[in-house]
Amino acid sequence: MPSYDVVVVGAGPAGLSAALVLGRCRRTVLVCDSGEYRNACSREIHAYLGRDATPPDRLRADGRREVVRYPSVRLEEVAVRTATAAASGFEVELADGRTVTCRKLLLATGVVDELPPLPRLEEFYGRSAFHCPYCDGWEQRDRPIAVYGRGHDGLGLALELTVWSRDLVLFTDGPSGLDDAARDRLRRNGIAVEDRRIAAVCGEDGQLTGLELADGEIVARTAMFFITGQRERSGLAAKLGCRFNAEGTVETGDNESTDVPGLFVAGDASRRAQLAVVAAAEGAQAAAAINTALLREDLR
Ligand SMILES: Cc1cc2nc3c(=O)[nH]c(=O)nc-3n(C[C@H](O)[C@H](O)[C@H](O)COP(=O)(O)OP(=O)(O)OC[C@H]3O[C@@H](n4cnc5c(N)ncnc54)[C@H](O)[C@@H]3O)c2cc1C
Repeated sequence: MPSYDVVVVGAGPAGLSAALVLGRCRRTVLVCDSGEYRNACSREIHAYLGRDATPPDRLRADGRREVVRYPSVRLEEVAVRTATAAASGFEVELADGRTVTCRKLLLATGVVDELPPLPRLEEFYGRSAFHCPYCDGWEQRDRPIAVYGRGHDGLGLALELTVWSRDLVLFTDGPSGLDDAARDRLRRNGIAVEDRRIAAVCGEDGQLTGLELADGEIVARTAMFFITGQRERSGLAAKLGCRFNAEGTVETGDNESTDVPGLFVAGDASRRAQLAVVAAAEGAQAAAAINTALLREDLR
């Protein structure tokens, strides 16, 4: 008999939301969390209905409080080292050496952002330098914004940001990769292009004041948006044999199921928009599908 109906790996919005629904379905659930939060550097979560502008740690703390009210849910601060498919589900090895078993496994392990290689950028990330206009564009509306990116990606982000500000400079940090049509489109939309190399991000206490170029000139800006790369935070999905899409997240089907029987992946680690409210919704959706799958197995 497996030790739990479900092991949920990750206690961000996706994992906690799944645990809440599963707890209400009286499922025995172990939630394991390694405490590495994607938005740890952010001051407020925006665009989360009912919780707009809530600090991320408060949202997590409130979520945890709600989840552990359900007696069949256990939440542990422990990383999952590895997991393998077994006859009746999965064997899950924890970082403290214990092994637990479960009938269904939900990975809600999120992603890690790979910031552009700009000196001092990390000091400003989540405070005045951002990757997501939907998350942070409103607070920077009508301000002088630096957009960082090359080629098609830089062009797209700069055009998108006209929703929030008309004072935009696209910094390409070297050869722009923009053809004449792209440059013309930027010009027609009032967006300047700066292709000199960037030496550093300037500012203090998390507030960006400009970008210093290689020749020493500082271009004054109060916020920056950039194209970022990212990777899965955990190698568990790859190890269990999940398929990945072109963006590098797990390819999931209806209700966050994967090609691996009994394995679900929800939140940023799976295919949809990377917003906290979407991650929470995916967690809830996966939980309902998991409960239904367990019910089908158990009914005579
Ligand atoms: C700077 C910044 C600002 C943002 N602002 C907004 C915003 O304003 N609004 C918005 O909607 N979204 C925002 N986001 C995006 C939002 O943070 C994510 O969409 C959301 O956190 C995704 O939730 P998740 O549960 O999928 O993953 P996460 O929140 O990343 O949680 C994943 C969890 O899995 C755990 N974990 C990973 N591997 C293991 C393992 N092996 N064992 C145990 N635990 C593990 C981690 O510790 C972590 O707790 C922002 C992101 C960043 C980086």
